[in-house]
Amino acid sequence: MELSAYKNVYVIAETRDGKVQDVSYQLLGKGREIADKTHSSLHVILAGYNIKNAAQDLIAHGADEVIVIDSRDLQEYLTEPYVQAVYSVVEERKPNIILVGATSIGRDLAPRLSARLRTGLTADCTKLEVEEDGSLFMTRPAFGGNLMATIISPNHRPQMSTVRPGVMKKLEADSQRKGTVTNVTFQLDRPKSLVEIVKVIRKVQSSDRIEDAKILVSVGRGICQETYPLAVELAKVLNGTISGSRASVDCGTIEQARQVGQTGKTVRPNLYIALGVSGAIQHLAGMEESDFIVAINKDRYAPIFKVADVGIVGDIKQVVPALIEEIKKYKQ
Ligand SMILES: Cc1cc2nc3c(=O)[nH]c(=O)nc-3n(C[C@H](O)[C@H](O)[C@H](O)COP(=O)(O)OP(=O)(O)OC[C@H]3O[C@@H](n4cnc5c(N)ncnc54)[C@H](O)[C@@H]3O)c2cc1C
Repeated sequence: MELSAYKNVYVIAETRDGKVQDVSYQLLGKGREIADKTHSSLHVILAGYNIKNAAQDLIAHGADEVIVIDSRDLQEYLTEPYVQAVYSVVEERKPNIILVGATSIGRDLAPRLSARLRTGLTADCTKLEVEEDGSLFMTRPAFGGNLMATIISPNHRPQMSTVRPGVMKKLEADSQRKGTVTNVTFQLDRPKSLVEIVKVIRKVQSSDRIEDAKILVSVGRGICQETYPLAVELAKVLNGTISGSRASVDCGTIEQARQVGQTGKTVRPNLYIALGVSGAIQHLAGMEESDFIVAINKDRYAPIFKVADVGIVGDIKQVVPALIEEIKKYKQ
């Protein structure tokens, strides 16, 4: 089939407990930009159980069409039923581009789907650019984050990419936006679905997820046992949340769920304060899109200063208490 026969941009929405995850809205933001530039339309495949009500909100966030596959067989995520459901739509529609969230679900679904479609997949993209003819340039870190590689798919369609949560920006919801909702019936091919969920045990999540925080106080190896309480106090006066580098996870200062970076989370807070973080490329990959970055480091040549809006060269033990004092005074 001619490559030009493949058309339009498709986002595969992710739902958990019937709720569309934020990453899907973020992909819609990017998908809208790509669809507009290529004069094509933006579609969402919304698979799950009891999820019909989410369709209108996806339209408000940029979709032209929401294809709903609502089935009891899709209540909890399982690879085979989900791949079957999504594949049935994609096979028929022949998309030019498919975007999937690089979450644990997306990372399971996307490779299976790409293999079934006999096309390539670029995982964990940090940048997506498109030409008017619909060719997608997918950029991702390579060689341990020391190089950024741009990958193209010149001979195969669809062009598939996964993108981590927090990398793309969602659009403001526009409740006046119009779109269509198409309901698709799904018949699971049971003999092919050999895995069964016996029991779901939900992990209790801490309420201060770093991905959702507006203010992050991020600690690095430069923060030790003695100075960690200063970071906690700074976070407290700012109503912020603690995050950190991989070194601070390795030292046991913070838990892994708070790690920012290539092998941690991607964050985009309004304010990111880096305390004793050197700014290795793998760390920057997870935070450089923050709105405003403040870095405090005693090494004036630390790479973190290259991305900082405000850089303070100094010792944490002196700078942070002074900062806390000033913030307290300002708040009075
Ligand atoms: C494949 C791969 C994936 C990785 N993924 C990640 C990732 O997701 N996230 C991540 O963070 N890293 C990641 N890393 C590790 C990364 O390369 C760095 O080793 C790590 O980010 C360094 O953490 P750091 O900045 O806290 O520590 P360091 O690089 O040791 O920096 C500590 C900083 O603290 C400053 N300092 C020390 N004492 C003080 C003081 N008293 N006052 C002020 N400043 C002080 C120092 O000047 C220094 O700049 C990854 C590495 C690889 C190879």
